[in-house]
Amino acid sequence: MSEDKKVRNEFKNLIYTQLSNKYNKCLYPKSDCTKDCINAHSIQNSQILDQLASNNHLVMAVPRLNLDTMPQIEFKKVGRNKATTFTGLCSEHDSQLFRPIDVNKFDTSNEEQKFLIAYRSVIRELHTRIKVAIDLQTTYHKLVEAGKCDPNNGDKPMWEATMAIANGYDLYKYKNLYDNIYNSNSFTEVKHDYICIKKSCPLAVSSLFNPINSSDQNNRPDPKFIVLNVFPHNKNTIVLLSYLSNHQKELRAYANEIINASGEYQLYLLSKTILRYCENFVISPEHFESFSSQKIDDLKKFYWETAKRIDYDDNNENLMLF
Ligand SMILES: [Zn+2]
Repeated sequence: MSEDKKVRNEFKNLIYTQLSNKYNKCLYPKSDCTKDCINAHSIQNSQILDQLASNNHLVMAVPRLNLDTMPQIEFKKVGRNKATTFTGLCSEHDSQLFRPIDVNKFDTSNEEQKFLIAYRSVIRELHTRIKVAIDLQTTYHKLVEAGKCDPNNGDKPMWEATMAIANGYDLYKYKNLYDNIYNSNSFTEVKHDYICIKKSCPLAVSSLFNPINSSDQNNRPDPKFIVLNVFPHNKNTIVLLSYLSNHQKELRAYANEIINASGEYQLYLLSKTILRYCENFVISPEHFESFSSQKIDDLKKFYWETAKRIDYDDNNENLMLF
């Protein structure tokens, strides 16, 4: 093996080891908790995942890392206790925070429940962004040590690592607002658009996204997010769009197209929104197995193209997830 290839392989191993390391930190809002974290479910386990899983597995979009090419995306069966879980809460605080939505049935008129569903998405997203920031920083430092990057030059790896910290910080500030609402029980500070579609739901989503085109924003204003949860309930599809009350007016403009649509077209728009903005979603394996290979290819292409360029579009009935 040439020396160059050996160094490259060592480096690959370092990156893969780093990516498999867990970021283990309880993000409980009332105290600085140092207890070990569990694999906390970001999508409710006993009521929602239970309905979707087959043999304790669910289908997820999983990035396939290949250091020689661009990363690819695959739809893969993932074990229920791995799918959509994150190591961002200890056992005690996970059950304390989310007991009201874990033991009770979903009630659309209950403001605490709707807040907690959105809060769980926010906590998971912060955990994910911190992990990405740590991974990119660590990788960047290894590149500098190996002489592949010059820290005096603003190259791509340096900017990517820096932007990951900025993205994590945005979410950190945003989660603080949710923490304050939780700590003061002022749940109505988060507003929701609730849609109940009379059709069985083959998937679940717990995610958030900022739909505002970054070129419309100047001076990095506080980011505004739509928190999106989709899940089955009583043989219906529930869509919950959540916003901080002072963001609702601006974000509503982006959600209105989905809110005002109906029937299959509403589900089609929702499917494209999920594929464009979300990575934390699961599909029932039974439903996924009904997809043709052409449909799966079209889904992967749209998911991947929108990851590279958020305004990429394709009008294709194969993008229907429901
Ligand atoms: Zn804790």
